[in-house]
Amino acid sequence: MKSIYDKKDLEKFLTKQGYGYRDLRRARRLLFREFEGLESIPEAETVLPKLDKEFQTSFLKLISRIDSNIDGATKLLFETYDGRQIETVILRIATGRTSICVSSQVGCSEKCTFCATGAMGFLRNLTYNEILDQVVHAGRILQEEDRKLRNIVFMGMGEPLRNYENLEQALNRLLDGSTFQFVHKFITISSSGLPDLMLKFSKAFPQVGVALSLNAADDKTRLQVMPINERFPMATLRKVLEEMEGIRQSGVMIEYIMFDKVNDSLEDAKNVAEFLKGLDVHINLIPYNPDLSDVKGFNASDPENILAFQNHLKEAGYKVTRRFSLGQDIAAACGQLANNDEDKLN
Ligand code: SF4
Repeated sequence: MKSIYDKKDLEKFLTKQGYGYRDLRRARRLLFREFEGLESIPEAETVLPKLDKEFQTSFLKLISRIDSNIDGATKLLFETYDGRQIETVILRIATGRTSICVSSQVGCSEKCTFCATGAMGFLRNLTYNEILDQVVHAGRILQEEDRKLRNIVFMGMGEPLRNYENLEQALNRLLDGSTFQFVHKFITISSSGLPDLMLKFSKAFPQVGVALSLNAADDKTRLQVMPINERFPMATLRKVLEEMEGIRQSGVMIEYIMFDKVNDSLEDAKNVAEFLKGLDVHINLIPYNPDLSDVKGFNASDPENILAFQNHLKEAGYKVTRRFSLGQDIAAACGQLANNDEDKLN
């Protein structure tokens, strides 16, 4: 069956149904920019029964939605057609900005020791249709609230670069000026640090944001939280960050989750400053919240330590922000996405 997200096939079909240029343009806008659903396209009553026979129009089933009681986060739980579960998070930020965090795999092979998704192991890659369906479901929810979806971050379940082909296919469609029309710089993919794939991605999408989950700046500590460091140690990461600078049109975001007594000392901050010296980066410190995570063994950093850490990096000349994690009451924060049955509403 053809996919609703394959523009050429869809347009060929609609043209056969008598659509002219204006109707096609209208259908594209309603479906991909305004997330109005198929019922809204011109002549829907006669076109849809035929379309249903040739096209798959839905790739995920929304099985639950949990809205945070304390902030603007919503967690969506989907079931795939082979019975797997994945999650997407909508973030409504106080400034009015909207963002969604999408999943790229069912589970993850990287096994970061603090991460609920890593604890699941790797089950399979999501198809580009499943990635795009997350965007459409979330976009529709926001549209119904008169909000426009602006940012997409690939920081949900999975290592997006391990699913390169589907990531590429999804991005090509999301960035297509005649369909989804998202702005390059408002999409970010986050990686655990896979040098070849980070380079390949930077060459293919130099304007799309890249975030690196650093989480430590010496091999011993990083290995403790991210087993991938065994294959790609700090020296390799440093080299690839330097190479990426020559290719990319903007700096790399450095994500640093802060764990008590693991990576939050002043010594650690000095290591980070030294490791990133001379690079165009933005450091994002993420306070870890253990309360809702199934993963044991990590505690939250003392806020004073976080402040001292942040100040040290600022004094060293870095752009540093501290992420206020939304969705702390619904396990929607970084490293907390896993298909936990208790999360279901029904
Ligand atoms: S933090 Fe990211 S890369 Fe690491 S196990 Fe979790 S989902 Fe995978």
